[in-house]
Amino acid sequence: MKSRTYHTQSEEQTIALGEALASELPAQAVVLLIGNLGAGKTTLAKGIVKGLKAADPNDVSSPTFTLIHEYSPSVYHIDLYRIDAAAQVAGLGLNEIFDRRAIVLIEWGEKFLELMPRERIEIRLRNTGEDSREIAVSQLK
Ligand code: ADP
Ligand code: MG
Repeated sequence: MKSRTYHTQSEEQTIALGEALASELPAQAVVLLIGNLGAGKTTLAKGIVKGLKAADPNDVSSPTFTLIHEYSPSVYHIDLYRIDAAAQVAGLGLNEIFDRRAIVLIEWGEKFLELMPRERIEIRLRNTGEDSREIAVSQLK
C-alpha cells in the first residue's frame, strides 16, 4: 500500500477513491479509518467494499450498533464508537478476525490502539470544506 495523501470534493469522489484503494490492498489487512463524525469514514468504507466486490455500497453503513458487519468471509467493517472500555473490546474476538485472510475496516479503532495490530494501514480523513476532504493513507509496520 502506497503512503499518499488524496483530496476529494464530493461523496462520489470518496467512494471512487475507496474503490481505487481496494485494488491496492493485500489479501489480509487491518485498515483504521480515523476522523471526526462526518469526515467520511463510512463513505470511504463503501468504496472499498464496492471495490472488493464484497457488498453493494447501499448495504454498507456504520456498524454503530451491531459493532461488526461481515460483508463476506474476507471483508469486515467494525465500529468501536460506542465502546468505552478495552475489556468490552476483548469480548468482540477481534484477534480472531485479525488472524483471518481478510480486509478488516475499523472506525474509531484509534480509541484502543494498544489492541490494534502493529502492522496496519491508517487512513486519516479531515474536513477541509463542506464537501472537501483530505484523505491520508499510511502503511505502518
Ligand atoms: P463518518 O463515518 O466519518 O462519520 P460518513 O461517511 O458517514 O462519515 O459521512 C460523511 C458525510 O459527509 C456524508 O453525509 C457525505 O455525503 C458528506 N460528504 C461531503 N463531501 C464528502 C466527501 N468529499 N467525502 C466523503 N463524504 C462527504
Ligand atoms: Mg461512520
